[in-house]
Amino acid sequence: MHLIIGFSLLKDSFGRVINYVRIAVTDRCNLRCFYCMPEHGNIWLNRSDLLSYEEILRLTNILGRLGVQKVKITGGEPFVRKDLMPFLSELTQIQGISNVGITTNGVFTEQHLDGLQKMGINSINLSLDTLDKARFHEITLRDEFDAVFSTYKALIDKDFKVKVNCVVMEQKNIADIIPMVELTRHSNVSIRFIEEMPFNGGKEHYEHLEWNHTKILKHIEDHFGAVTPLPFEPSSTSYNFKIAGFKGSFGIIAAYSRTFCGTCNRIRITPQGQLKTCLYDSGALDVRALLRDGSTDEIISIAIQQAVGKKAKDGIVAENTRHNHPVHESMATIGG
Ligand code: SAM
Ligand code: SF4
Repeated sequence: MHLIIGFSLLKDSFGRVINYVRIAVTDRCNLRCFYCMPEHGNIWLNRSDLLSYEEILRLTNILGRLGVQKVKITGGEPFVRKDLMPFLSELTQIQGISNVGITTNGVFTEQHLDGLQKMGINSINLSLDTLDKARFHEITLRDEFDAVFSTYKALIDKDFKVKVNCVVMEQKNIADIIPMVELTRHSNVSIRFIEEMPFNGGKEHYEHLEWNHTKILKHIEDHFGAVTPLPFEPSSTSYNFKIAGFKGSFGIIAAYSRTFCGTCNRIRITPQGQLKTCLYDSGALDVRALLRDGSTDEIISIAIQQAVGKKAKDGIVAENTRHNHPVHESMATIGG
């Protein structure tokens, strides 16, 4: 990966600089997480509707020239797409891209860890919502806890920068919050508790989200006593904390309350090549159409700059101004 170039040509009308893209390489997944997609009835994209790896690489080159430095590969589950590793290797070679990370459910990931490290990919977000095997099955509808926890241990042993994403779900995994924080006692890991969002593929969402960021923090403080806030990292979506004497840290992501939008630095590319300037918008630009209609890199760059220029002030505004309101699509079709 190349050195950071300190500029960005992507700026929105509120002066926020965009230097981070999350790219979903597939909408498919081997798990069926309760909060993300239904068990049955998912309509998968045809292969020809997905951006090809060549198209993603071209797009990332364009974004790199516009000043994007950080790429996170997500999905669906990235490791269910064929030939992900050679694609990642090419991605890490792109001029201007200094940081490539992956968000994964960890089922097929462990076998690739050495290969990832060789490419310079050292940062993994692992989704793990429970440390209890039965609850894992209840949440994901699959019996893969052992594979995922083995990946977790391997990530720690191999010194990856590990963030564990744990979606906090009423009546499902509240009993896991304290054991998850306990993981940070002896390991240099960051556990991030995420407010549950309505991107579940159609199910009703709560009228009032009881387990919001405030309640999650209070629950942790009630158990461990006062926790120390860590300095706020610019553009971070999580408020981070440490417990005295613990090696790792934990964070809380107010993904539903949307308290972090003011410093947002990211855009998203969905598996079908829509550019989203906010998780909650319904798509700001059909990049796939441009990639396929003979548009030059320059034309695509200008279209991306224009779309970013119109980025909504925050996720509440984005949700209220979208045409298909309220949101209910699966996170896997967006790229969480
Ligand atoms: N399959 C990979 C995984 O699970 O890590 C990557 C894709 S997944 C959509 C990315 C992240 O979105 C995961 O950490 C998942 O927990 C989170 N996510 C999915 N649906 C969500 C929801 N409704 N609310 C909050 N987070 C959600
Ligand atoms: Fe699959 Fe990730 Fe969605 Fe779970 S959160 S169903 S692992 S895409």
